[in-house]
Amino acid sequence: MVATPIGNLADITLRALDTLRAVDVVLAEDTRTTGQLLSQHGVRARLKALHEHNEASAASAVVEMLRAGEQVALVSDAGTPAISDPGARLVRHVREAGFAVVPIPGPSALAAALSVSGTEGAFAFLGFLPAKSGARVAELERWRDFPHALVLYEAPHRVRETLADLARVLGVEREVLIARELTKLFEQIHACALGEAEAWIAADANRERGEFVLVVSPPAAPREREAAEGERVLSILLEAVPVKQAAKLAAAITGARKNELYARALELRKGFNAEDAEDAEGRREGS
Ligand code: SAM
Repeated sequence: MVATPIGNLADITLRALDTLRAVDVVLAEDTRTTGQLLSQHGVRARLKALHEHNEASAASAVVEMLRAGEQVALVSDAGTPAISDPGARLVRHVREAGFAVVPIPGPSALAAALSVSGTEGAFAFLGFLPAKSGARVAELERWRDFPHALVLYEAPHRVRETLADLARVLGVEREVLIARELTKLFEQIHACALGEAEAWIAADANRERGEFVLVVSPPAAPREREAAEGERVLSILLEAVPVKQAAKLAAAITGARKNELYARALELRKGFNAEDAEDAEGRREGS
């Protein structure tokens, strides 16, 4: 399984080139695309097509080649084979037939986008979401409460719709990293709130072109959500009841910490008092 560049042709490893030179057959998703890459690097190889429509039948043919003592490499159009690309069925079939399957690692849009996202720890890779909005929203709802980052691939003609659905289902406040045309001439990496993402794309027709990875940051931790909700309720209650009572009620309603709310209520009350004083001042000057 040989990884190839996701745009910049220089992003191919020495081991990938050695392997592609050494094997008897290179299976390629699109023999023309791979032919160009190989000729760019002066590699001559016997190319055969393996794509999603012939993967099952090609798998049997590959096992025959391996039994005949041949070595076979698989490449996809770009990046790492079998990541949102054909190859997984072939891998299973070949391993079940008793042959080794070896990774020759290299570029993948998934790893490239993640590496510049600032994501720490776990994440889920969703690949491409369903093309139709109903199915896409249903799939996203399954991930709404997932406590880690989400990584998605998207096609240019659907990126705006998908960003709108992401904002609707996951919330406008979560951050998204839009990684466009990675490693290519017009590479662009933009981070913003999900609520601003569709408008950012719409602001320039060029931003809707090319290939995209979207990395959505994890949801706010439950404690942070509670604290934010506590403060929202507190500021409403402070309009009607004294500080201590407002903090107590806001804590009971939202589960946020009473002491923190009390401290915040005193700060807010100072603000209110200052505003009241300004209002009174204004009224005196006006009268
Ligand atoms: N196997 C590939 C990999 O390892 O990344 C992915 C193949 S998948 C069919 C193609 C999708 O990957 C594109 O629609 C896009 O979402 C993403 N992708 C590939 N190259 C990219 C690039 N240069 N910049 C951003 N996204 C890219």
